[in-house]
Amino acid sequence: SIEARDRAYQMHPLVNLKAHETTGSLVIDRGEGVYVFDRDGKRYFEGLAGLWSVAVGFGEKRLAEAAKAQMEKLPYYHVFSHKTHGPSVDLAEKLIRLAPVPMSKVHFTSSGSEANDLVVKLCWYRSNALGKPEKKKIIGRVKGYHGVTIAAGSITGLARNHASFDLPIDRFLHTHCPDFDSLALPGESEAAFSKRMASELETLILEEGPQTVAAFFGEPVMGSGGVYVPPENYWQEIQAVLRKYDVLLVADEVITGFGRTGNMFGTETFGMQPDVMVVSKQIASSYMPIAAILMSDGFYRPIAEESDRLGVFGHGFTASGHPVATAVALENIRIIEERDLVGNCRARSPRFLAHLRELAAHPKVKVTRGIGLIGALELHPVGDVGRAGAAMAAAALEEGVIGRAVGDSFCLCPPLIITDSELDEMFALVAKALDRSD
Ligand code: PLP
Repeated sequence: SIEARDRAYQMHPLVNLKAHETTGSLVIDRGEGVYVFDRDGKRYFEGLAGLWSVAVGFGEKRLAEAAKAQMEKLPYYHVFSHKTHGPSVDLAEKLIRLAPVPMSKVHFTSSGSEANDLVVKLCWYRSNALGKPEKKKIIGRVKGYHGVTIAAGSITGLARNHASFDLPIDRFLHTHCPDFDSLALPGESEAAFSKRMASELETLILEEGPQTVAAFFGEPVMGSGGVYVPPENYWQEIQAVLRKYDVLLVADEVITGFGRTGNMFGTETFGMQPDVMVVSKQIASSYMPIAAILMSDGFYRPIAEESDRLGVFGHGFTASGHPVATAVALENIRIIEERDLVGNCRARSPRFLAHLRELAAHPKVKVTRGIGLIGALELHPVGDVGRAGAAMAAAALEEGVIGRAVGDSFCLCPPLIITDSELDEMFALVAKALDRSD
């Protein structure tokens, strides 16, 4: 059977490897709209849009057609040296035009991890180019998620991605998660909490020496760590500290990009002014693996100037700007624009958040968080941390809704095409699962 061969041959990400050798996997066979179906035809509501990514829903024919057309015309070419091709140029131009703050150059990778890894390399390269070889430290946040490669995994602030991998490596530091509900002092307002978070960041930068700190990486809304929406003024306070000490801001928009928070980018939602933006996932609704790094001129220019000294920029991925991936991303962005999926996110969001608030009254729920069409219900722990979350995810699966448990938070991030009635259906299943999970 496919299950037996899966157990025999495939090592999965993010699983108890030993347990997977003996327990089966759920074999997903096809998808349509907000649903996926297993091999027996059982329907699941994809409450996490795959991995926070299938904005246009499953089974979108236009993306299949865009891939086929590009496969037939030019299935592969690279963008090394002076070679290029139409889809990569069109997508780079499109991203520069869409960017909410002035950006001047785009570089493509195949995943969010690779993109963040490369941004770290670029920050180091840039500091060297500027004659500041000491300015190399990178600050991430506890519960931040930026991927799993050596540098991206080091920016990530989650123990499960560090333990036994010898991460984080040197030069990587972490400041607090802006988890207002758990970390606010008694009586502290959101604005005061944000000020305190910024002052903790300032203390860290001063302790390390501002001349050694290159960049701060942050997701506008933290996703994979459990969905943490920044409190009032958080980004304004953080940015003021970064500016004061000449520390770059990298907005990791891998989840928030292309509409998730109700604007095209989370950067707009929170008034951020990043030097670099990283996008992936919803850029192609994950129909193809692709990510992009958007760089401001101030970030890019010193890197380019270094070519006078070194001749060649010594970096490149075989699949950078892959023609099929860029063609699919372009068509996907066209669909997002034509169907106004960002507007749909804004229009559906009040109902999404109202459903979440309603669940907040459930005795098993500690707190709920959300913005746009991304949210989480955090359950009261039962025994070890993570047990209640895992039980909830299992009960949800039985009810026919796929979400994601992170610790005791159950995360939801449905496709941006979702309708009001589909939202009601998803939350009815989640409520049933909540009642029976233990
Ligand atoms: N950054 C963020 C904010 C993410 O959510 C993710 C993946 O979930 C990544 C980076 C890593 O992307 P990938 O899994 O494509 O390497």
